[in-house]
Amino acid sequence: MSKYDSENIFAKILRNEVPSIRLYEDEETLSFMDIMPRSDGHCLVIPKTPCRNLLDARPEQLESAILTVQKLSRAVMRAFDATGVTVQQFNEAAGGQEVFHLHFHILPRYEGIGLRPPGNMVEKDFLHVQAEKIRAALE
Ligand code: AMP
Repeated sequence: MSKYDSENIFAKILRNEVPSIRLYEDEETLSFMDIMPRSDGHCLVIPKTPCRNLLDARPEQLESAILTVQKLSRAVMRAFDATGVTVQQFNEAAGGQEVFHLHFHILPRYEGIGLRPPGNMVEKDFLHVQAEKIRAALE
């Protein structure tokens, strides 16, 4: 497995070198909106410390990340009246990973409604409105 590359886009988001629409953070983790959402409220959770994915993550990184995943899962369900939530996590290119900093996708879901296709950027204003709803549901 390759080494962690500190120039990946999520490392730049953590250093504020690249903008992001932040939802929640604590000492160990950060959550922000995915810029190519596959459902309304699609957001990501990452550890603040470096690791490529599940394969090299330390137990403490996984523990804090999954607790934030639970927090955001509950919040997006409340914010979007969802009846379910899908958590996705990809490992290495062959496993579908494109950004090599551990991240969990959180996708609000509804009975019988599929995810939108990947790779479609949406208006920033649209994401800001959704982010506000999620932040309110976190309180
Ligand atoms: P994957 O590594 O396959 O889980 O895909 C990376 C995910 O990160 C995709 O859903 C992208 O839409 C998302 N993404 C890539 N760049 C950014 C960014 N600058 N801000 C927020 N999400 C991003």
